[in-house]
Amino acid sequence: MDALATFRQETRDWLEANCPASQRQPAVREEQVWAGKNKSFPTEDGKLWFERCRDKGYTVPEWPTEYGGAGLSDAQCKVLREEMKAIRARTPLLDIGIWMLGPALIEYGSEAQKAEHLPKITAGNIRWCQGYSEPGAGSDLASLQTKAEDKGDHFLVNGTKIWTTNGDKSDWIFCLVRTDPAARKQEGISFLLIDMESEGVSVTPIELISGESEFVQTFFDNVKVPKENLVGELNTGWSVAKALLKHERKLMSEIGGDTPGPTFGPVQAALEYVGKGEDGKLKDRALRDQLVQHEMNFRALGLAHFRTFEERMTGQTSNLPLIMKYCGTEEQKRKEELLMALLGSQSLGWKDTQFSSDELLTPQGWAFSKALSIAGGCSEVQLDIIAKRALNMPELPRASA
Ligand SMILES: Cc1cc2nc3c(=O)[nH]c(=O)nc-3n(C[C@H](O)[C@H](O)[C@H](O)COP(=O)(O)OP(=O)(O)OC[C@H]3O[C@@H](n4cnc5c(N)ncnc54)[C@H](O)[C@@H]3O)c2cc1C
Repeated sequence: MDALATFRQETRDWLEANCPASQRQPAVREEQVWAGKNKSFPTEDGKLWFERCRDKGYTVPEWPTEYGGAGLSDAQCKVLREEMKAIRARTPLLDIGIWMLGPALIEYGSEAQKAEHLPKITAGNIRWCQGYSEPGAGSDLASLQTKAEDKGDHFLVNGTKIWTTNGDKSDWIFCLVRTDPAARKQEGISFLLIDMESEGVSVTPIELISGESEFVQTFFDNVKVPKENLVGELNTGWSVAKALLKHERKLMSEIGGDTPGPTFGPVQAALEYVGKGEDGKLKDRALRDQLVQHEMNFRALGLAHFRTFEERMTGQTSNLPLIMKYCGTEEQKRKEELLMALLGSQSLGWKDTQFSSDELLTPQGWAFSKALSIAGGCSEVQLDIIAKRALNMPELPRASA
């Protein structure tokens, strides 16, 4: 047996012995384990599963053991993910420190910053949030105005960030700030780590049409930030920001596997809610065409993900990662539209008890999917990036007024 096959068998055995049965079911929002100083565990099994993974280094298996990871190679991580998926094991710990900040710190952070922050991320001790967008800077992120003035031993931060997901539940925020107002837009930006408990940081909830919200607006009013919280060099934060966005977009292109949603996929929903005709085919021809198209796209996306992995393993580079956020999130939206159509009037429940829990999750997943092609860079901007960087297309001349 080769080393990877041995690792697969060991992983299978470990999962069998350690993953509680209740954690081998599709994710449920109310039972997710999020990092944080005041972390709470909605279930005992969730706590047990988190603790066992943390102790094994499996909350972030690809990170070095000195930071609390398991030091697994890319190939071993792939095996672990495949084996977890095979038993439908839930992700033991959620935090954007794992998905976004950590990888950027590994690339750009100082040794002291890595030693300080990465072990807290793998142990789930700190919850992170993202301070990029501002009221006047979303797609055009480089227009951001939150400023950090150099005051000798610290920066003085003033300004506001918007759409901070879970900002009210987070302990620290990573922020893009303007440190040189005279420089060209991208060249006067720095990347700062800010403790949300610092004096002068406050958050205001943003209420959404649904009446609920996970967003806040974050305000910085003369916030003192120690100099050691600067990641990378002064005024080079744009490079850190872009590296982090790469991780965010990769995550978004993969979204779906562990996102709470109905237990059925489109094929199962089609069989259950539309049914087959006498010819043995799905009764509704238009839905059948959409279903086939989606299944083909979904498999093509899976293969494209696999190709990006193989390229990484063999040190090759291509333009494929550039298209994955756009293609993944647009297909996810089509999938949710399709599920709504397949369920028909059974997809119209929101809180009503006459609908099954899967039926109630269907419109929620559909509504959430609309955010996927905005967060992390909207689809139109992604198309612009693909046109310029992947296809080398020329810029269209701007229409004169
Ligand atoms: C679910 C969710 C979570 C988020 N969480 C965070 C967070 O935690 N932290 C954070 O900092 N931000 C967060 N955001 C904000 C997100 O990064 C911005 O919404 C995104 O960058 C778009 O910016 P905007 O909302 O200002 O829209 P705008 O930039 O105003 O764009 C609005 C629309 O205009 C069009 N448009 C804009 N520019 C172009 C262009 N160049 N070409 C063609 N069309 C264009 C597009 O249709 C676009 O959808 C989150 C957003 C969502 C939806």
